[in-house]
Amino acid sequence: MDIKKAIAEVEKIDKEFHYFNHIIKKPEERNGKLDYFISIKDCICVKDVPSTAGSKILDGYVPRFDATAVEKIREMGGVIIGKTAQDAFGFGSFSTNVGIGKKIPLNPFDKTRTCGGSSGGGAGFTQKFSMPHIALAESTGGSIVCPASFCGVVGLCPTYGRVSRYGLMDYANSMDKIGPMAKTTRECALLLDVISGKDDKDSTCVSGIDSGAGFEKYVGKGISGLKIGLIKQGFGKGVDKEVGKLVMAAVEKLGLKCEEVSLPLTAEYGIATYYLIAMTEASTNLAKYCGLRYGVEGNVDGKSFNTYFTEIRSANFNEESKRRIILGTFARMAGFRDAYYLKAMKVRTLIINEFKELFKKYDVLISPTMPVIAPKFSEIEKMTPLQNYMMDFLTVGPNLCGFPHMTVPCGFSDGMPVGIMFISDHFNEGKIIQIGDYYEQIR
Ligand code: GLN
Repeated sequence: MDIKKAIAEVEKIDKEFHYFNHIIKKPEERNGKLDYFISIKDCICVKDVPSTAGSKILDGYVPRFDATAVEKIREMGGVIIGKTAQDAFGFGSFSTNVGIGKKIPLNPFDKTRTCGGSSGGGAGFTQKFSMPHIALAESTGGSIVCPASFCGVVGLCPTYGRVSRYGLMDYANSMDKIGPMAKTTRECALLLDVISGKDDKDSTCVSGIDSGAGFEKYVGKGISGLKIGLIKQGFGKGVDKEVGKLVMAAVEKLGLKCEEVSLPLTAEYGIATYYLIAMTEASTNLAKYCGLRYGVEGNVDGKSFNTYFTEIRSANFNEESKRRIILGTFARMAGFRDAYYLKAMKVRTLIINEFKELFKKYDVLISPTMPVIAPKFSEIEKMTPLQNYMMDFLTVGPNLCGFPHMTVPCGFSDGMPVGIMFISDHFNEGKIIQIGDYYEQIR
């Protein structure tokens, strides 16, 4: 691999589209099976490389260790080229909530539009870069498939617990997943093979159930025998007609017999449940950023800790981070905890059961990934926070419940890419890889 040429292209693309928070100018040359350049979402720690989770408050933080996924990538020969842009801490769907002073990544097809979020930089770069490349991304509520779909690439979010979260800066611990984005399903399967598997440093990371073994074998396997459920809500209210049509055409092309299925509970309560749990967990995770241990520091002279922390946090958290800290703290305060956080946890269990019922009968569920094409920045500016959150209504279900899901490009509307989403039961990544890869061959 020509590293010099690669970095020159990385820099050129970044100048125009703002996909990186940090470019590694002289990446370590490596040899191994994973003959790819790898970009890493900024919230995943890379040893000796500035890692800020896209925020301002972590400016200056340089991890002294690699995340487990990064370590595995190095061991297999991947060449790490930099940290990609994102919404600060993963809070967003458009990569517009970047840390104060940071640049917003621009859609590779139309610079007046978003890349999606929160893994926007990685998705846009995956589309633009001409050399062999796979992006390491992260999803809590849809942050892998949303930007992948808006940028016309493949994004695979694995089962919760499939990939170690050690070295990932937590957003919401019960939902965070690390996963790949690439131009093809095969490449996503390849990277998932590398990063999966048990890790003693993450107790929620599973072993067994073919963990870390052979996702690539599902590539080229065909789709005969797979039973498909079409999610009704993915083609109804709130979903752009043209987007629905393109996904439906893709389903017809697959040529499988499929039935319409319904997820009424997920449709009604998914967004509220997801955002309650996500913000509650996020608000405790962000408490450690206070100008003492990580990132920016200020002058402590003569100040009480309260004054100092307040100063640092006021000046360095962006608006969306503050909103989530306040809402999340409220939802877990004594007196409200039962009414909000614990209630949301119970509803999550009901939502898991709703999906599980369908997985008794169907191997893969299908819907559009996002209800619309990538919006323009001028449109995003006019959205209220609630309108913003509603954009995730198709992706929060599998994310809340830890089901593997993947987006594959299935056409263009108004010159912008549209993605079809495949969801399967826990630890059934093989099935979505099978169907995604098959669709790529026939589309
Ligand atoms: N858009 C969702 C949110 O803002 C999902 C983000 C993510 O998956 N990191 O929480």
